[in-house]
Amino acid sequence: MPEETDAVVRIAGVIKEFGPLRVLDGISFDVARGQTVAIVGRSGSGKSTLLRCIAGLETIQGGTIAVCGHAVGTPGSAARAQLRRDVGMVFQSYNLFPHLTVERNITLALTLVKKQSKEEARKRAADVLGLVGLTDKTASYPEQLSGGQQQRVAIARSLALQPQVMLFDEVTSALDPELTAEVLGVMEDLARRGMTMITVTHEMGFARRVADLVVFMHKGKVWEIGPTEELFAAPRTPEFRQFVRSEL
Ligand code: ADP
Ligand code: MG
Repeated sequence: MPEETDAVVRIAGVIKEFGPLRVLDGISFDVARGQTVAIVGRSGSGKSTLLRCIAGLETIQGGTIAVCGHAVGTPGSAARAQLRRDVGMVFQSYNLFPHLTVERNITLALTLVKKQSKEEARKRAADVLGLVGLTDKTASYPEQLSGGQQQRVAIARSLALQPQVMLFDEVTSALDPELTAEVLGVMEDLARRGMTMITVTHEMGFARRVADLVVFMHKGKVWEIGPTEELFAAPRTPEFRQFVRSEL
């Protein structure tokens, strides 16, 4: 039977525990190709843990996660390599290599992991630096860039590997408002180009403007989920209503 939906990510009944602490308590939702999903919720509600589970960085105690039809957590190095190709993840900290140029930060994985020729990798780096508006920074070192520019390099580095879905975990939290805006602009652009994205964010304006679907997490559960405008226009639970008010 062919897959009925075009879901890039399918999350079904996911349970994640750290020892006695249940952090994800039966999370389920699908992300369709080209969709932008915003995950919002209070600190400690399990947002980062969920992204880490999707990226295969955590083992889960129950339920299933599939990316492009492949179950996350399938044993074996081939399955792990497939997942690494399909999922790009960007964190609050950019983790660029300080001793390498912007270009080399991007081409490193392409030449080492993807076995591309230097020439191919440099062309790809130029393409993705164009996408994030940093064509003129190819030869710069990370310390010569602003925090916003470094984060855009981190996004470009991830895009270079041509992932099927991008995960963003509070990528602008460490940036001041002006730099936040330029990074959100790049993400908005990616969404418009049809990239499938799951983004954990405190930027409610961005979520409302860019996300197709909003997931409000509370106490490790999907407390509310729905099309962005519907959800914000008519919060169903007191918890989400209070959250929206507190984020204004
Ligand atoms: P959020 O990203 O929504 O702030 P997290 O996913 O980071 O929430 O954390 C959810 C809960 O899981 C918190 O109570 C946190 O303390 C706990 N937690 C996260 N990672 C670990 C870990 N590696 N070991 C133990 N507890 C953890
Ligand atoms: Mg978090």
